[in-house]
Amino acid sequence: MSRGVEGFIMKAYRADDYTLTVTYVEPVTDKYIRVGFTADGLLQNYPVHPTQWIRLWFDDGSGRQRQRGYTLVRQDPATDSFAIEFAVHYGPASVWAENAKAGDVIEASLLKGTGSSNFSIPEPTPPEFLIFGDTASLPAINTLLDAIGDVPARVCLEWQYESDVILPVHAHGKTELTWLQRVDDGRLVREHAESTIPAPGSFAWIACDGRTTRSIVKTLRAHGLAKESIKAQAYWK
Ligand SMILES: Cc1cc2nc3c(=O)[nH]c(=O)nc-3n(C[C@H](O)[C@H](O)[C@H](O)COP(=O)(O)OP(=O)(O)OC[C@H]3O[C@@H](n4cnc5c(N)ncnc54)[C@H](O)[C@@H]3O)c2cc1C
Repeated sequence: MSRGVEGFIMKAYRADDYTLTVTYVEPVTDKYIRVGFTADGLLQNYPVHPTQWIRLWFDDGSGRQRQRGYTLVRQDPATDSFAIEFAVHYGPASVWAENAKAGDVIEASLLKGTGSSNFSIPEPTPPEFLIFGDTASLPAINTLLDAIGDVPARVCLEWQYESDVILPVHAHGKTELTWLQRVDDGRLVREHAESTIPAPGSFAWIACDGRTTRSIVKTLRAHGLAKESIKAQAYWK
């Protein structure tokens, strides 16, 4: 099946390819599905780190494969396994997750060298993290919260379905969690960013839809946060 331009680029960068097999599928809410996989040795070559993600290839129903980014959770190199949590909406990846069953296989690609992701917690540890995301970036945010332990974090999450707000967030005693409904293409989250004043030395991690992500970066830069103190990536558009 054709992978189009995305496949050409991955080939040009000599991406590493893996074949993952589904081991279990469990609903987390009516709009969120956790899928377990065997890792095909991937974790041996790409060490586990917070916000680790890979590119999966999904059939778009027209004879083409589409590449989508997904975050690894529950990674266990000893058993060569991990899970991925899919926010359900509409699209080839979402449809695949809704129909997934044990034994299904799916192709994954990672760029050689750093892998598809290479984020690490800044050194020295910032005094506070400012985290903006939604249900697509919640798996990554949970790995981030696990990694920073009891460092204070202000976490702002956007929800689209009522059940989103009962999704597990790995908050701890020093996590200030705010859920805001997605209205007007992320207006409430953008406004929340405007009222978020970073403490000196803070680090921001931002992964919403493209427009919201860009807007929050701009706002936090205007609030005095240095470029190097921000890790931002659009998770969907
Ligand atoms: C580094 C990285 C890690 C990611 N990790 C995860 C993860 O662990 N879990 C996860 O669920 N997603 C994750 N995403 C987001 C996921 O890749 C996108 O949501 C992707 O677009 C889904 O593909 P699709 O084929 O289902 O929909 P698409 O074909 O891309 O889009 C179809 C329609 O759905 C809309 N849409 C797409 N995504 C969303 C969304 N999240 N919410 C609402 N509407 C949407 C689009 O606007 C479009 O109208 C990650 C993205 C990146 C870049």
